[in-house]
Amino acid sequence: MCVEGTPPPSSKLTRRGILAGAAALAGTLAAAGHATAAGDHRTDSGRHSPGTTPRAGHLVIEGGTLLDPATGGVTENAVVVIEDGTVGAAGRRGAVAVPQGVEVLDAHGRWILPGLVDAHIHLSTAAEARDAVRKGATSARSGSTSFYQDIAVRELARHSPALAPRLTAAGVFVTPDLGDTVLADPDLTPLARLKDGVRSPEALRRVVEVNLARGADVIKTRVNERAGLPEQDPLAQVYSRDQLAEIVAAARRRGKGVLCHSYSEQGCHDAVMAGIRSLEHGAFVGERTLHEMRRRGTYFTPTLTAIAGLAESSDPVLAERGRTYLPVLKRAVLAAHELGVPLAAGTDSSGGVVDPIGGEVELMHSAGLSPLDAIRTATTGAARLLGLTGTAGRLTRGHTGDALLLPGDPLADPAVLKRPVTVVRAGVVAA
Ligand SMILES: [Zn+2]
Repeated sequence: MCVEGTPPPSSKLTRRGILAGAAALAGTLAAAGHATAAGDHRTDSGRHSPGTTPRAGHLVIEGGTLLDPATGGVTENAVVVIEDGTVGAAGRRGAVAVPQGVEVLDAHGRWILPGLVDAHIHLSTAAEARDAVRKGATSARSGSTSFYQDIAVRELARHSPALAPRLTAAGVFVTPDLGDTVLADPDLTPLARLKDGVRSPEALRRVVEVNLARGADVIKTRVNERAGLPEQDPLAQVYSRDQLAEIVAAARRRGKGVLCHSYSEQGCHDAVMAGIRSLEHGAFVGERTLHEMRRRGTYFTPTLTAIAGLAESSDPVLAERGRTYLPVLKRAVLAAHELGVPLAAGTDSSGGVVDPIGGEVELMHSAGLSPLDAIRTATTGAARLLGLTGTAGRLTRGHTGDALLLPGDPLADPAVLKRPVTVVRAGVVAA
């Protein structure tokens, strides 16, 4: 059945007007929200000059050991000056001019890292968004949500950064069976008539186009069934290379990339050859596909956290699947890294439980990456995938003022990344 007989998305003009009003409202509320966030937080020893009011987004972090993931450089007794949410200067104390009257966060005895990037997370509620920040993910890429919640989370992050990670939104999943997601937008409802689901070129294009009209930054699709449902076979393929190429082409027409849920070697190969931007999960990705990924610069987001989580499942089918897949996936991660395939850390958190992105770094390390290379998968590497080079992943001048204070040396033990003592988001202490 053709779905092109129905009119194209029509409500954008109205929606744009509403969004403009919302932005104005956010502007009037932002100052109050930031002042609260800056005024009631707990810090090691936050202080500011008597008689002055801390200004939102202005913060000096001083005294800790600063790691630059890009260079591997370590600066002891460091100072990071954040102005209006952006790093103005960073370096050894004495070499950096420290402004007066600005709140100071004492980092003595701590390691200072840039906020981490979770390149695959499902943020469907305000509580999940806040939790992600508290657990160290100050930037993230959505792996889709059922009703466009991620588009709103992205806006929440823009006016209240302490409440949500800076988000690259994916909108709704491009998948054969949309289920209740046909109700996510009136322009998706015609797809409910399709007996075979979203499979024809017209239907695939429609889901992509509705996503883009709603403001999605990337498109999420799949080539295989799910690993997290015992009744599904994650090696069964749901879309062909041609169908994936249709999705990629529709996204590219608007300059957007595609992330693709994949498990089987053939599925991974078809997805990469169709031109996806990043391969998600990818447990059984083979050498020929990894070589192709290296050639094309396709990213690999293995979501080791999710597969390790399966192994802990109370369902015997899922537990067995997790125990079987995890070592296979770790070998694929190491092979990819040794070949020069870019890796991005992602937890695949969803359903109310947010896993710390630092745990994914720890798992990358356990797969054979050095601690620094593992940290890069959640900083400079993932930032590049999200188009955030120059914004996230480092704490040098011009980067966003997102930082973690850690209780120990992450180069000696990446597990400390799971337990940030303090999280700073755009110059505001968020946790
Ligand atoms: Zn996912």
